[in-house]
Amino acid sequence: MTTQAPQAAHAVTLPASLDEAVAALAAMPAAVPVAGGTDLMAAVNSGQLRPAALVGLGRISEIRGWQYQDGHALLGAGLTHARMGRPDFAALIPALAAAARAAGPPHIRNAGTLGGNIASAAPTGDALPVLAALEATLIIAGPNAARREIPVSHLLAGVDMLRSGELIGYVRVPLLHAPQVFVKATGRTGPGRAVASVALVLDPARRGVRCAVGAIAPLPLRPLEAEQWVARLIDWDNNRAIVPEALTAFGEYVAAACIPDPEPAEDGSAQQLPPAVLHLRRTVAALARRALGRALS
Ligand SMILES: Cc1cc2nc3c(=O)[nH]c(=O)nc-3n(C[C@H](O)[C@H](O)[C@H](O)COP(=O)(O)OP(=O)(O)OC[C@H]3O[C@@H](n4cnc5c(N)ncnc54)[C@H](O)[C@@H]3O)c2cc1C
Repeated sequence: MTTQAPQAAHAVTLPASLDEAVAALAAMPAAVPVAGGTDLMAAVNSGQLRPAALVGLGRISEIRGWQYQDGHALLGAGLTHARMGRPDFAALIPALAAAARAAGPPHIRNAGTLGGNIASAAPTGDALPVLAALEATLIIAGPNAARREIPVSHLLAGVDMLRSGELIGYVRVPLLHAPQVFVKATGRTGPGRAVASVALVLDPARRGVRCAVGAIAPLPLRPLEAEQWVARLIDWDNNRAIVPEALTAFGEYVAAACIPDPEPAEDGSAQQLPPAVLHLRRTVAALARRALGRALS
């Protein structure tokens, strides 16, 4: 279906399937996909973006839900934050549900989608640290019904980019059946963009802890050594017990890994982090400590 947007007279195509959407992008290489429009229309309204045509993804029902596959959930890119925040989804992937509930005010959560959050790749994207901690992968739809799979982290790091005419179709997430936490600090009360966020998931089958810190760098950071260190301190056979001091030490380990001390000066004297950066490091430490404490409680 093709209509004309009244004011801008841009072509707007509304395909009913993922492959139709890819075909529409191939037919109009200057067209831009739009899902909820919360990021894209903000860019249009501020004059940063002037798309020649739009391919709307809102009518593609196949990417608005999820299905189960080999111990994983295959999440449609068109899932809205509001949908992911509901209890049935929270029972499946608690950290992603918590991130979705924290992603902006209600009208943004009703429209904004998982795929848009990933494609925008903003440092403050709340889904991103969760997907990094879960080591999620993306199913990318390309021309002629082609599908390829890449780790989310590769897309965010620019190692593997979306090619012209490709769309994020699905996100494959392992179902870990264990506690997961997402916590976020904002600069104000009420909904707001993250100043720092931490996603933490337990992987009891592998006796692992996976953690990602969002918003403090262009892409989520994984403090791998801190993860491995704390996983060895958890008594996995005894109700996942841990000594309280280890929670604090873990927070500090994560924070120092993500925001390291500056190199010493040429004369060998120690350098201080600027106060604002020191404050951010303390925030990350508190979030990581809280996330682990909640996951193990
Ligand atoms: C006031 C406000 C507050 C916000 N607060 C938060 C917040 O607290 N946390 C947070 O994480 N985000 C926040 N956001 C950002 C935004 O809501 C999210 O990033 C949202 O998930 C984007 O999804 P969308 O469907 O609206 O994307 P769109 O705006 O439709 O698209 C964004 C980009 O992704 C591309 N795209 C969309 N879907 C696909 C796909 N399937 N395949 C390939 N490319 C695609 C589009 O071409 C475009 O470049 C906020 C935005 C606003 C305006």
